[in-house]
Amino acid sequence: MKQLVKKGIIECGIFKHVLRFVPPCVAVLRYHSVLDRPTDFEKTIGTGIIHSSGQFKAQMELLARKYNPVSLDDVLSFLEGGRKLPPRAVAVTFDDGFVDNYEIAKPILDHYGIPAAFYIAVSSIESPFPPWYIRLRHAFYTSTESSWLDQVCKKKYLLTDVFTRNDALVRACQQCAPLAGRAQDLAVAELETQLQVEAYKPDPGLMLTWDQIRRIQSAGHIIGSHTLTHPNMAYVADLDILKHEMISSKEQIERHIGVPVIHFSYPSPMLEPHWSDHTIDVCRMAGYRTATTCTSGKVVQGDNPLAIKRMWVPDTLQEFEWCLSWTLLGRTL
Ligand SMILES: [Zn+2]
Repeated sequence: MKQLVKKGIIECGIFKHVLRFVPPCVAVLRYHSVLDRPTDFEKTIGTGIIHSSGQFKAQMELLARKYNPVSLDDVLSFLEGGRKLPPRAVAVTFDDGFVDNYEIAKPILDHYGIPAAFYIAVSSIESPFPPWYIRLRHAFYTSTESSWLDQVCKKKYLLTDVFTRNDALVRACQQCAPLAGRAQDLAVAELETQLQVEAYKPDPGLMLTWDQIRRIQSAGHIIGSHTLTHPNMAYVADLDILKHEMISSKEQIERHIGVPVIHFSYPSPMLEPHWSDHTIDVCRMAGYRTATTCTSGKVVQGDNPLAIKRMWVPDTLQEFEWCLSWTLLGRTL
């Protein structure tokens, strides 16, 4: 019934009429992975951050037909006061740097003329290992052990079904999320040893290559940084490590694509908050001019460009249009 009501409201066209009178704003969409068969990756990427290629194509077709896609550079100009945005403005972003962003999402975006921003977790590019949270998911979902002993709080977690495995995974992710670089590598490797699984090395590659990243940039899309090793930046206590994650990732991308990188995206693994006044200061010092977060909401004039809100993207087309319209109307979903 609820779905029927939503369908009726969407089909009567009232959103388009009402959104004409909303003060200038933009909804920034947050995608990760787009795949033909998401369930093939439920033990690695996790279906929670995958959209099917069919869903994504339908959503982009809707954006091109009923909304006005803008770039992150347009959002920056809007926030700095220099550019008016069209009504129903929407920006598309991708986190992490999955290879499907190039192979599946980019052709669809290009077909509909939609600019997007792709944020890269640099240490996973041309590395045998994907980001740490994927290695952990693989370890906890494929281990043949019947339980896992959390060494920190000495609590035993069963690994008998998908629910108990997920509880254990969440706990392990909470422990690894504040870690970066070498400390993170060691912690993940130790957990893989405890679970008696080999380090996950995807074949074929799961993440973008530098050549693919250059091709995405050459097609007119934006490449931004998503740190080096994908920690929760608000929990990284060591200032030198915080700076290194922001500055070195920026420098490495610039070296590979040959253009300045001014856009950053905060990872948000497991723990909250995932950004703070302190991380904003470091982000500014590192030379970024925008930073997108996972905090929900639309972007309005006066917002800090280094703490841009984004919208989590539902799977179905109806729910997508419903959430997008309400987000532009200012409701936090
Ligand atoms: Zn991420």
